[in-house]
Amino acid sequence: MTLPAPRPGLMEITPYKGGESSAEGVARILKLSSNENPLGASPRAIAAIRAAAEEAHRYPDGGASRLRDAIAARYDLPKDGLICGNGSDELLSLLVHAYCKAGDEIVYSEHGFLMYALAAMANDVTPVKAPETELTADVDALLAAVTPKTRIVFLANPNNPTGSYLAESEVRRLREGLPDGVLLVIDAAYAEYVSRNDYEPGAALVAERDDTVMTRTFSKIHGLAALRLGWLYGPPGVVDVLHRVRGPFNVNAIAQAAGIAALADEAWLDKARAHNDYWLPELTAALTAIGLTVPPSVGNFLLLRFPGGADQAAAANAFLTKRGVLIRGMAAYGLAESLRATIGSDEENRILIDMLTEFMAGQAADG
Ligand SMILES: *Cc1c(COP(=O)(O)O)cnc(C)c1O
Repeated sequence: MTLPAPRPGLMEITPYKGGESSAEGVARILKLSSNENPLGASPRAIAAIRAAAEEAHRYPDGGASRLRDAIAARYDLPKDGLICGNGSDELLSLLVHAYCKAGDEIVYSEHGFLMYALAAMANDVTPVKAPETELTADVDALLAAVTPKTRIVFLANPNNPTGSYLAESEVRRLREGLPDGVLLVIDAAYAEYVSRNDYEPGAALVAERDDTVMTRTFSKIHGLAALRLGWLYGPPGVVDVLHRVRGPFNVNAIAQAAGIAALADEAWLDKARAHNDYWLPELTAALTAIGLTVPPSVGNFLLLRFPGGADQAAAANAFLTKRGVLIRGMAAYGLAESLRATIGSDEENRILIDMLTEFMAGQAADG
């Protein structure tokens, strides 16, 4: 019997694994594994979700017109340069689907977000990694990895899981060094958390060119990960292509309503940003003091590097999991000696510090 055969390359894909959300035998879970907003969504967004539930029998606005109005107004962008997606993940996948054919290549950085490689492999496209320098994307290495087969360069800025970012001048140098016809995708999922003078999420570059796009998400600072909502700002040519390949109702109505309400709650975003700004240096200092190496992060998460390497990181992960604290193993990112922890609530952060302190003290006692 001949079995139905999937497209070439699909069986090589290791399915993306989200952050753990349960641990055997543990009742109370602290989930710090998926870079979610510990304060939750804006109460205004939650009210909008409840109200939208009454209309759940209606198909959504396929073009997310009102949501795009709200994004355009909030960020001062042209509405016809915007397209919304079922999470920014959908938009990243659609870009590969639309701009690459089998055998082409995409380029991303060594410890860059995993979705780029997964989207490539789903389309029989080869993901090519460029080495990083000090856990940061390296423009020269990215440019050197480009070949005549390269169709897209993906840059997460800031990057997950390293927390590092490229200054606007470096992103521009990358763009200027890329050959004509290569699309640059700037994934700015954590843009709202960054408060550095030399950072720009990508919109300024997009506005000047017809070969660069920026993706954003409601999953992180807006606290709406469950609803799957992202958006892209790009030149009319690219946005037109994506509208042709997206599903007709790719963004559900409840997500659209929540997104509009979330964008209107500036105070909630300020609160989330202030919480993160307070804890980033606090957690970094506390975890550095117990012997971990914590590279500077501009996101809502920290990479924790264990001096004892991959075995120690795995032991720490097991230790935390047994106690209901879930953070993320990083072996899939080529960082097996590291774990990634999301900035949690005040209480969650204190518990994380206490538990890792206990773990590291135990390690010292064991010699
Ligand atoms: C979380 C994340 C996304 C967002 O994904 P959604 O599909 O919008 O939830 C995109 N890029 C990076 C780098 C991320 O960490």
